[in-house]
Amino acid sequence: MIVAIDGPAGAGKSTVARAVAETLSFTYLDTGAMYRCVALARLRNPQADAAALEIGLTEAVMLDGEDVGEEIRSPAITELASEVAAEPEVRAAMAKRQQALLASGDWVAEGRDIGTVIAPHAELKIFLTADASERARRRAEQTGRELAEVLAEQEQRDRRDGERELSPLAAADDAVILDTTVLSADEVIARIVDLAGERAGAGEPR
Ligand code: C5P
Repeated sequence: MIVAIDGPAGAGKSTVARAVAETLSFTYLDTGAMYRCVALARLRNPQADAAALEIGLTEAVMLDGEDVGEEIRSPAITELASEVAAEPEVRAAMAKRQQALLASGDWVAEGRDIGTVIAPHAELKIFLTADASERARRRAEQTGRELAEVLAEQEQRDRRDGERELSPLAAADDAVILDTTVLSADEVIARIVDLAGERAGAGEPR
């Protein structure tokens, strides 16, 4: 079974996806971490070929054998990740890996295009969203950075992710839209776990 969780930056996808995966005993797939690894590799070597990178996502985020879990969360990598994510070769290479992983087992996969492009057959698709000002407020609180600065960067990233030609951020037609401006993380997690239970039950032979 695949639970796809898509949405803009700062909507709470990671917190929610991790908790849902843990509750259901599914494997968590953070596809954003893959694009962040490509960005880091490019920062280190502008010629780096995304398809040739060794990216590991179990336990820690590993790039060519090195734990880069912290480094990929920097503002510079956050910015560069959304730039490299618009490149067709990069998307093709990451899509191939993601689809190979999702081909067997039970997953909670988080990203921008899981329900629309990577796993359109997912049993449950969630589009997690929240007001831009609330998303920026949370991010500023987490990082201790200036709200205005975070908001400006977020707007730029939302625009880039939403307007790119290939796999732009979008809710699948059959996605359940949950707005975390008005729902707490616990409420969202409980709702997704319930929905996953319903969908899993619906797929069982009678
Ligand atoms: O989710 P996260 O903020 O870690 O993603 C970093 C960047 O990777 C996003 O801004 C987006 O440009 C890109 N991304 C994507 N498709 C995904 C996941 C992430 O384009 N499925």
